[in-house]
Amino acid sequence: MKKLQAPRGTLDVLPPDGRRRLDVVRIADEVLSSAGYEPMETPVFEDTEVFARGVGESTDIVQKEMFTFEDKAGRSLTLRPEATAGLCRAYIEHGMHKLPQPVKVWYVGPFFRHEAPQAGRFRQFTQIDAEAIGSDDPSLDAELILLLDEILERAGTGPRRLRLSSLGTPVTRAGYVEELRRYLRAREDELSEDVRSRLDQNPLRAFDADHPGTQAVMKEAPLLLDRLAPEDAEHFAEVRALLDAAGLEYEIDPTLVRGLDYYTRTVFEFESERLGAQAALGGGGRYDGLIEELGGQATPGVGFAAGIERILLAAGEGERSRGIDVFVAGTGRDAFQLVRRLRSSGMRAQMEQAGRSLKGQLKQADRLGARWTVILGDEIEVKDMDTGDQRQAGSLDDVLGMVGG
Ligand code: AMP
Repeated sequence: MKKLQAPRGTLDVLPPDGRRRLDVVRIADEVLSSAGYEPMETPVFEDTEVFARGVGESTDIVQKEMFTFEDKAGRSLTLRPEATAGLCRAYIEHGMHKLPQPVKVWYVGPFFRHEAPQAGRFRQFTQIDAEAIGSDDPSLDAELILLLDEILERAGTGPRRLRLSSLGTPVTRAGYVEELRRYLRAREDELSEDVRSRLDQNPLRAFDADHPGTQAVMKEAPLLLDRLAPEDAEHFAEVRALLDAAGLEYEIDPTLVRGLDYYTRTVFEFESERLGAQAALGGGGRYDGLIEELGGQATPGVGFAAGIERILLAAGEGERSRGIDVFVAGTGRDAFQLVRRLRSSGMRAQMEQAGRSLKGQLKQADRLGARWTVILGDEIEVKDMDTGDQRQAGSLDDVLGMVGG
């Protein structure tokens, strides 16, 4: 028989990782709700056009990485490769522009990209996303960067680097791309074959090249940051001033290009040295043209996405939390009744359920990290697993008092 396996690039989450993932989600909820972000959910698949128009036809994501399929009625659907486009589709569909602005939402869920799997890169991964839609106030850009930093800090990712830039408006960008293309054409013979072949499509890619000749040319290339319109430069200066005042360190990186077309103005990315080639923990930016692109009224927005798998990779194993408060070494109705009473008094309790010997049960209590073990024999004994002290209980009622339930 064929050996059945999880599909390539996907991941089974086994204990104790499931608990660690929930802990990250809980941290995100605490941090984001402190700033007024409310949970929201959209479908895992959307009309393919949501991403084609939203993320951009020319991006790697849309050209190569989407899981697209037809439903039985012949509609083209796509498993969502990112969160913002679907969320903006919902914002338009539900007339959320009529709510007090900005609409602040966050969510967590699975995303899908048909990429070559490697450490930290999966075909199904989980993102925490937060978005503030309906205002272009620079304090929102700074707020989201600081909130993501706090989530990463509390999740234990350790030291990280924040890269920051501004892309201006699409008009500024188009003018700049033309200028860059002219500059690159003038020095075409110094560029790598790959960069030359993509000059028409996307000259910005030249900034990412490994080729020494291309890198030398790019050192002297014009930068988009120096071409920003005054109001965009001012917006960026305000974002930076707010981050400075908050004491958050960042590097201005004029070559930061993110893989999605919809960004305008602020873009940012957090990286960890603890991760290998896939160093990005999370990032995001402003997308002031996206909602209009999807058929809504012109509405600004800003957001971030961070991958839970990457956060946990950077955080390492960390401290193991106690799995259980009380293990009842015993079987039968008394044991069953006792664990129920312990649970209803707020403790995490388990009893023996696999036919182990008493010795095996004590070992099991240890493996589970129990704080207390209650041994139900002829007598009832309560063992403090931290000190090793063992005391006798007069009745099951006494047990509850002794373990603090
Ligand atoms: P992006 O929208 O590409 O900037 O992705 C946002 C975040 O999602 C990244 O910083 C990663 O943490 C995570 N991420 C993106 N793609 C993958 C993937 N294929 N596997 C695991 N995590 C990913």
